[in-house]
Parts: sequence; C-alpha cells; structure tokens
Amino acid sequence: MGGPPLCEVPKVQRNRLAKHAPIWHSRNAFDPTFSREYKTIMTSSLLIENGTVLVTSPAPTILQDASVLVENGRFVRICPKSEMKRTADKRIDASRKLVLPGFINAHTHFYSSFARGLSKTKPATTFVDVLKNLWWRLDSALTIDDCYYSALLALLDSIRHGTTTIIDHHASPRAVVGSLAAIEKAVTETGLRACLCYELSDRDGEQIAQQGLDENVSFIRHCQKQKNDRVTALFGLHAAFTLGDKTLETAAKLGHDLGAGFHIHVAEAASDQEFSEANFGMRVVERLKKFEILGRQSIAAHCVHVNPREMEILAETQTAVVHNPQSNMNNAVGVADIITMERAGVLVGLGTDAMTSNMLEELRAALWAQHLSAKNPAVGFVEVGTALFVNNPKIAGRVFGFPLGELREGGLADIVIMDYDPPTPLDGSNYWGHMVFGVSQAAVDTTIVGGKVLMENKRLALDIDEQRVNARARELATKMWQRL
Ligand SMILES: [Zn+2]
Repeated sequence: MGGPPLCEVPKVQRNRLAKHAPIWHSRNAFDPTFSREYKTIMTSSLLIENGTVLVTSPAPTILQDASVLVENGRFVRICPKSEMKRTADKRIDASRKLVLPGFINAHTHFYSSFARGLSKTKPATTFVDVLKNLWWRLDSALTIDDCYYSALLALLDSIRHGTTTIIDHHASPRAVVGSLAAIEKAVTETGLRACLCYELSDRDGEQIAQQGLDENVSFIRHCQKQKNDRVTALFGLHAAFTLGDKTLETAAKLGHDLGAGFHIHVAEAASDQEFSEANFGMRVVERLKKFEILGRQSIAAHCVHVNPREMEILAETQTAVVHNPQSNMNNAVGVADIITMERAGVLVGLGTDAMTSNMLEELRAALWAQHLSAKNPAVGFVEVGTALFVNNPKIAGRVFGFPLGELREGGLADIVIMDYDPPTPLDGSNYWGHMVFGVSQAAVDTTIVGGKVLMENKRLALDIDEQRVNARARELATKMWQRL
C-alpha cells in the first residue's frame, strides 16, 4: 500500500508482542486519530445515583432509587439512596434509567467489520460456499492494519451497545504474525475486556498453519506474563473439518502445556459432521474429545448439529457451548437445540458471531428461533435468559480467571446504564421479560468497565476520534475489497 501511514499499528508491534499501555498513557503525539485532549474520565471513585439497579447476587433483585458506589474498579456499596452516606470523585445521575451489569458477548469475529456492505461475492447456497465465497476470501485479504481497524470498529460498537466483555475469534491468514497484538492494541485503547485467539486451520497450507500455532502460543504466553485484567487468550482453532489430525494433535499439546483452553467452531453445519464421519469415522465432538480439545476452559461455538451422545460429552467435559442464533439463521444451518443441551447439563452461552454487538438483540433472536424451531411459543425463555444473564458470566469468568458480569458488592464494576423507566412492575423475578420486550428497545446511555467511564450521555468518553476511525476504516476497507 502506498501513501503515508495514518495511525497504523507501529511496526514494532507487528514483530514482537510488546506490552501496550493504554492509549491515554502511551499515545503517539503524531497520531492524528486521537485528539490532543485527554477525554477519558480517570476517577478512582464513582457514585451512580437515583437509578433502578439490578443487583445480580445472591439472588436477582431490583433496587429502586438506589445508589451504587464504585471504588478502584469495584462495587463497594449498593443500597437505597437514603442509606448512602458517602460521596465520590464523580457522580452520575441515573434517574429514569436502569443500571445493569455490562453485557458479555461469548463468541464473535472483530475482523468481520470490513464485510459490511460488501457485495463482491458469488451467491452461496451452502454453508461451505458461504465460507469459500465470502469469509475465506475476506480474511485472506486482511492486513495487520485492517485487523486493528476492524477490531476498533467492533469494539466502539460494543461500547455503544453496553457490551463490556467480548470473546473474539480472529483469522487473517496472510497477516498472522502480530495480528493478535494489533487487536490487543485496539482493545486496550477502548478500555473493554476481550479474550482473543487466532483461528488455526490447515486450509492455507503448512506454513500458515505453523504461523497460526505460533501466534496462539506467543499471545497466550504474553497474556500469562502481563496478567492484564482486560485482555486474555484462548487457543484458537477454526473447525474440525479444516484441521487434520497432525495439526490438532500439535495444537492440543501446545495448548495443554500452556494450560490454555480452546475456542473452536463445532458442528455449525451438518457438513461438518458428514466430513468427520466420512474421513475420521467419528462425530465432530468425539474427535475433539479424542484430541482433548474439550474441557472446562474450552468453548465450542454453535453445536447446531450435535446428537445426544455428543451433548453428554460436552456436559461431561464441562465444555461451554456458545449459541449464535442470528448467524445460524443467516447461514440457514439450523437452530441449535439449546433446551436439550441445557437439560443435559451443558453450559450454554450466547454470542453474536459478528452479526451485531447488541446482546439484547441476540437474546430476542434466540427466543424467536427456539419458538419457531419447536413450533411452540412456550419454550426457550428460561434457556435463552440463562444463556445471557447466568452462563455468559460463568464462561467469561472461566476464561479470564475471575468473576465477571455480576452487579454485587465486591464485583468488578462493568456497568451499562440504559434509558428505561419501566411502565409496568419490574422486579427480580420478571426482569428477563423486561429485557426481551422492553429494555432491548431502549438506548444505552452509559458504559463503564472496571469503574472507568467509556461512554456517558451517549457520547464516547474516550481519547479516540470516532469520525477519523471510520474515515480510515473506509479507506482500508475500500482497498481490501479491491484485493478480493
Ligand atoms: Zn464464529
């Protein structure tokens, strides 16, 4: 690419996994994407007043006209306003607003941001054609700068939708080395929490597979060394049907040696199972069990086409399944039977697979999909609510190593404040109904991670010029589309 660089990922980060301090500490003075003014609100204490607050534990409870005190990134006191005797460096008035724990997206792909509006693909009538005609052409065209900017777009969109923790799955086979460091830089600059991985695959040959192995190993080591509570890693694998036994075995050994879990697409389409049975004489989940890819820290995304025996294996190995209903409907691959899976003891969470950053939109879609699939409007409510509000925090807690997604005294202060003055009774027993039918249609006003305000009054409180980011992303996406 010609022309002078404009806020590209510095070369040093492409070559080694340096620890990246937040942008407000390490900002490059020549970097035009970031304004000169330090906008990020750096407060050690924060008091949210007058809001309707969902306290998540020990049992979900709604507190009206409540005060929430945050100190050093944690909730220290949640109580009726009349009982709050303390003050703070910063106050937020949450009158006529609902204060919730930040949402968690348990499976997505930041790099998909550059696909929006792309029409340069051949029609696809099968899932494998969707991959071949769109996603594998797109990810092969990504540069390191594309990885950084596509992540930045997705992260800013997550802030706007109150999604504070994201589990990402990244692919850029012509720009593998340093891709996770570039994404980490975007995560650090936006102040969100993210779990990253590189999707290892044999589809591009041995050399790129080796780079995929190395990228996962280096980044996991980097995360283990830096012990950053905002960024962590899993060992990424694309899917069983693009991984030969040799690569799976190598990945499993490397992952086990590092003590890392795995993040892989499982039985997203029936073709994954057909390929596995034809080539390996076993089902996909059985093959992953054989290679010890499954486990308490591992994530199996989709599981649309798993049989009862595979569900048993997922439950026995405590592997988390992440359901992505909008993606499954878009790709016409079917609807995962999360009701049977949850009954079988599988921990089922909810992800967007890059369809959106809005977890409440995904929640609604999940519910409609279960209704339609079962042709029964009475099913699925508990399972989808559990997936987002109970199981996603558990999954995030497993991969980060500490509890997340809980609004309780002592918990990490990841918060979303939404415009919502309930027009009907709201309490701890019916809040899921409000989420599906009311809160999902409300605007996110304020997003906070670890006590740091990232957006307030619907304006980003970051040291990032969103218009410049969008302008640069458009330039890069235009060039990327030309390379397809
Ligand atoms: Zn995916």
